[in-house]
Amino acid sequence: MLDLKPFIREVPDFPQPGIVFKDITPLLTNGPAWQQVIDQLVERYRNKIDIILGIESRGFIFGSALAYALGCGHALVRKPGKLPAATFAASYELEYGTDTLEMHQDAFPPNSRVLLIDDLLATGGTAQAALSLAEKLQAHIIEAAFLIELSFLGGRERLAPHAVFSFIRYDGE
Ligand code: AMP
Repeated sequence: MLDLKPFIREVPDFPQPGIVFKDITPLLTNGPAWQQVIDQLVERYRNKIDIILGIESRGFIFGSALAYALGCGHALVRKPGKLPAATFAASYELEYGTDTLEMHQDAFPPNSRVLLIDDLLATGGTAQAALSLAEKLQAHIIEAAFLIELSFLGGRERLAPHAVFSFIRYDGE
């Protein structure tokens, strides 16, 4: 098994001063490391989920590969104004201001077993908004999965009682 942390590049002060951006592109461009991530997710969720809910945009990369491997669907949570049909919307607080996510009202059948997926869990605001959209369709949330978890920002606690899975954790900046 490869240690995945060396495949995450830390870029200080991007996109703004004070943020240490976790860049996943070195992992995405390494075939064996990327395959290991998807293979582990396949093993973890095989026969346990009906639909993957991917968050724009890096969540789509994980969601697409995993949905293909599991033979399940991939529903999209997107930034406002991108989805063409009728949507549900959920807003959440940022450090400065608010942001909104949308999902098609018929994204998946009610009572589906749903896995939420994104590249990184920080404060959990994004994932919490996405889960609130899934709950409008009476989703059974199986878990929220992330490649990276910034555990010092408390996202896992914020998403409770939903279960959180992550591959790589950072306990401080
Ligand atoms: P949050 O809502 O605070 O959990 O932030 C999660 C979202 O912001 C994810 O979609 C991430 O891709 C992005 N994000 C937040 N912090 C970082 C970071 N330090 N490096 C890369 N992406 C981040």
